[in-house]
Amino acid sequence: MAADNNRDWRVDVDADRCIGAGMCTALAAARFRISGNRSQPVDALIGEDDAVLDASESCPVEAITVRDASTGELLAPVEGEGRPLPR
Ligand code: SF4
Repeated sequence: MAADNNRDWRVDVDADRCIGAGMCTALAAARFRISGNRSQPVDALIGEDDAVLDASESCPVEAITVRDASTGELLAPVEGEGRPLPR
């Protein structure tokens, strides 16, 4: 069913974690904006967009979470994807 794919995912940026590094705006410029040296999603509810997953996996402080808007399932960051998670 390809009807409504505009609100499949929920994107959140934890402003307490974000260090304003700008990786997300570099990888998904249409999805994130920097305000007050912190990133925020342009839209919290979006259609599926692999660039947002890449941004989440690439954020150095794991500030970006991507969830299935219907189920709440965590889609990114996923441990084991991309580079190792910082501990
Ligand atoms: S990549 Fe992470 S730390 Fe950098 S601006 Fe985006 S959310 Fe903030």
